[in-house]
Amino acid sequence: MRYSQFLITTLRDNPAEAEVMSHRLMVRSGMIRKLAAGIYSVLPLGQRVLHKTISIIREEMNRAGALEITLPIVQPAELWLESKRWNAYGKELLRFKDRHDRNFCLGPTHEEVITDLVRNTISSYRQLPLNLYQIHTKFRDEIRPRFGVMRAREFLMKDAYSFDRDEENAERSYQKMYQAYCAIFTRLGLTFRAVEADTGPIGGSFSHEFMVLAETGEDTIVSCTACDYAANLEKAEIGNEVFARNTTSKKRMQRVHTPGKKTVEEVSRFLGVPPSTLIKTLIFETPEGPIAALVRGDHDVNETKLKSILKCAEIFLADEDRIQELTNAPRGFTGPLGLSGIRIIADNALRSGTDYVIGGNEQDVHIMHVCPDIDFHVDIFCDIRCARDGDPCRRCGARLKTSRGIEVGHIFKLGTKYSEAMHATFLDEKGRELPFVMGCYGIGVGRTVAAAIEQLHDEHGIIFPQSIAPFDLVIVPVNSKDAIQMRIAEDLYHEAQRAAIDVILDDRDERPGSKFADADLIGIPVRLTVGKYAVSDKSIDIKVRKTGAVHKVTVDNAIPFVIQQLNAERL
Ligand code: ATP
Ligand code: MG
Repeated sequence: MRYSQFLITTLRDNPAEAEVMSHRLMVRSGMIRKLAAGIYSVLPLGQRVLHKTISIIREEMNRAGALEITLPIVQPAELWLESKRWNAYGKELLRFKDRHDRNFCLGPTHEEVITDLVRNTISSYRQLPLNLYQIHTKFRDEIRPRFGVMRAREFLMKDAYSFDRDEENAERSYQKMYQAYCAIFTRLGLTFRAVEADTGPIGGSFSHEFMVLAETGEDTIVSCTACDYAANLEKAEIGNEVFARNTTSKKRMQRVHTPGKKTVEEVSRFLGVPPSTLIKTLIFETPEGPIAALVRGDHDVNETKLKSILKCAEIFLADEDRIQELTNAPRGFTGPLGLSGIRIIADNALRSGTDYVIGGNEQDVHIMHVCPDIDFHVDIFCDIRCARDGDPCRRCGARLKTSRGIEVGHIFKLGTKYSEAMHATFLDEKGRELPFVMGCYGIGVGRTVAAAIEQLHDEHGIIFPQSIAPFDLVIVPVNSKDAIQMRIAEDLYHEAQRAAIDVILDDRDERPGSKFADADLIGIPVRLTVGKYAVSDKSIDIKVRKTGAVHKVTVDNAIPFVIQQLNAERL
C-alpha cells in the first residue's frame, strides 16, 4: 500500500470528549470517527485493525469446531416475550415498531434468535454438540456510552452459542471456549486474566470474564497473591476470617449528639474514632420488603452478593422518604437498634469487635459502644462486602489483591434457561424429548482493540501488537523528491511485498519529522528509513516501535532483518 493512495487522517489534537487514551489515539490516528453518542464509523486504518482481530478470532473459533453463521440484527418481539426478556431487559434494548405496528428490537445479544433457529433446525442428539457463532453488529442503548468503541451503543461482537445433550457435554463445550479465548487473547498480544464473574441479566449458572489488565479499566479484579483464584469484584468471595469478640471489658452504650454529621467521614472525625469502628446501615428495597445491610464504616456493601443471598434480581437503596418512614429519622442516622420488621443482614467482619458507633434512628443522634448481636439482633451474618487488598482468599486463605481490568470477553453456562423457556428440545437415543443445555460466549471486537491500545501505548502514540497492527512495516523515504532515495525505497517496498510483509510506503511529500510522528502515532511495529546514507553508503535505519531501538543495516539486509524482527513477535 502507498500512503498517497490510502486514507490516513491523523490529528494533532486530542478530541475534547475523549477521557481515555485508547479513545484519543483511535480518533487521532484516524481509525474511527464519531457519528452520534456511542456510534462510530470505522475508517480504512481502523478497518485493517478490526479485520486482523476478527481473523484471529475466526481462526480460533473454527479450530475449536464452532461454525460461523450470520443472524439478523432486527429481532421480533415475540421471541423476547417467550424468553420473558421483552420487559425484563430494561432500556438497553432498543425497541421499535414496523409499519404494521409490530414490535421489534435491535439485537443486544442473540440467545432468543439462536434458540429459535436451533429448535427449528436440530431434532436429534446425533446433531450435537453444536457451536454456532457470528461476528456481527450489536446495539445496546447504553445509559452512558463512553471511551469511544470501548462502551459504544452500536458495536461489533463475536457471539457464539453451544448446544449440548447434557451438563457433562456442555461443560466440555465451555472448556473448549475457555481454551479458545486464551488462545485468541494470547495471539492478540494482550496481558489478560480469566476471572470468575456474576452471570447478570443474561442468566445461567456459571461464567468467566476475560479481562485485559489496564489501569483505566472499568472493572476491578480481585486475585489471590498465592493461588490462581481471580474474580470480578462483584463476585469475589472473601475467605474465612478470624473472628474474636471479647465482651468482658465492654463499655455501656452511649447516646451522643452528632448535629448534622451524616457521612462516615463526618461522624468519625467528629467523634474522634476511626471509620472502621462505625457501622453503616443501608436500607434496601427488595421483593421480600425492606432489609437492612450492615457493613463496617470502611467497607462497601456488595449489591451483587446481597442479591444472590436474597435470591433476587433487583434491589435498590431506599429513598429519603422511605428511610424517614421506616426509621423515623433522615438518611445518615439509620442504625439497627429498634428497627422493627426489617431483616438485618450483617457482614462477617461485624462478628469481631465490641465497640462500634451506629446511627440512632433519630435526627442528629448516634450511639457509641455498640456490640453487634449483643446490643442489637442480627438475623444473619454473611459475606456481603466488597473484597479489598489484604482480605483472605476463599480458596487458600492467602491475601487478595485488587487490580483494574477491561472486560473483553465473557463466557457463560446457560443451562436450560432459554431452551426450556422457548421449548427448544431434541430427541435422545431412547426417543426422550430433552431441552438443549446451552452456553454462550462473547467477545467485544472493538473493545478488544481499544483494550490493546490502552495496554500498550506511549507519549508518541499506539504500540500495536504485530498481530493486529494495520501494517507490519512502514518505509519512509526522508526526501521523496530525491529520485535515488525514492528508487531504493520502491525497491525495498517491492521486496517486502514479495516476502508477504504488510507494508506501506510513505511516498508523501512531507517533512520527515511528520512522517515519523505519524508512523509512531499509528503504531506500526517496524519503520525503515531511507535517507541520504542509503544513497552514499547503502545504510538504512530500522526502528522498532515497541522498544524504540534503532538498528543500522545495509540495504541488502534490510528486509531479511525486518522479517526476523516480525517473526520474533509473531505468535
Ligand atoms: P459490560 O459489563 O461491560 O456492560 P456485558 O457484561 O454487558 O459488559 P456481555 O453481554 O457479556 O457484556 O457482552 C460480551 C462482550 O461484548 C463483552 O465482554 C464486551 O467485550 C462486549 N461489550 C459489551 N457491551 C459493550 C459495549 N457497550 N461496547 C462495546 N463492547 C461491548
Ligand atoms: Mg453491559
